[in-house]
Amino acid sequence: MKITVLTLFPEMYEDFLHTSIIGRSIDRGIAEVEFVQIRDFAHDAYRHVDDHPFGGGHGQVMKCQPVLDALHSVKKENSYTMLMSPAGHPYTQKKAHELSDKDHLILLCGHYEGLDARINEEVDELVSIGDYVLTGGELASMVIMDSVIRLLKGSITEGSTEEESYENGLLEYPQYTQPADYEGKKVPEILLSGNHAKIKEWRTEQSILLTKKERPDLFKAHEFTKEEKKILQRLQKEGKI
Ligand code: SAM
Repeated sequence: MKITVLTLFPEMYEDFLHTSIIGRSIDRGIAEVEFVQIRDFAHDAYRHVDDHPFGGGHGQVMKCQPVLDALHSVKKENSYTMLMSPAGHPYTQKKAHELSDKDHLILLCGHYEGLDARINEEVDELVSIGDYVLTGGELASMVIMDSVIRLLKGSITEGSTEEESYENGLLEYPQYTQPADYEGKKVPEILLSGNHAKIKEWRTEQSILLTKKERPDLFKAHEFTKEEKKILQRLQKEGKI
């Protein structure tokens, strides 16, 4: 997969692209990342990319010309273009899976007060990473790159993403490692039992309980499997839910 990032601040990505799983995936050629400096497409001597908003108001707005010239310089038929925006669709794990099937992703990062709204017409989608406002789209694009690259074949051990939070609509069960007793805080007995069927049931039960507690919205929307329904009914009988 190729990812092209359109930004005014490519230097922000230095550590991100050379660290841990993302760094290894890029070294192995699983993902290729390139940057386009939007400022390189400005025409005036001071390389302005922004101007005052029509109608008045605070701050500066990124202009159509340099942004769209930068976009058109890299956009191909197989490109999927996303504009980072607090007004976009909320980003989800489902979307990360969809994006991991694309050949070429273009991530466009705004800054200042955002971009001229006519730019929206030239992208496939506006995407938001959460209900808050960042200084620029760079962190949002890193979030998208990270979540997509780790899903690409060869990035991490096959199967290790399958039981994670959001993959089946529930949050992941709690995980523990050595020691079994840390200053009196003990790992649940069942995990030391070696009984894989019981451990699997316990993990599903914990996923259900955790999702109900932390994300009632996900819990309500979840389509429970036959096995999950059985556990849910037992938890209801026991008054745990
Ligand atoms: N004036 C804009 C508004 O109120 O919606 C906010 C502009 S923000 C300061 C500058 C840039 O940061 C945006 O153009 C966008 O690229 C990025 N950005 C900010 N918050 C974001 C979010 N939650 N998700 C994705 N991108 C975001």
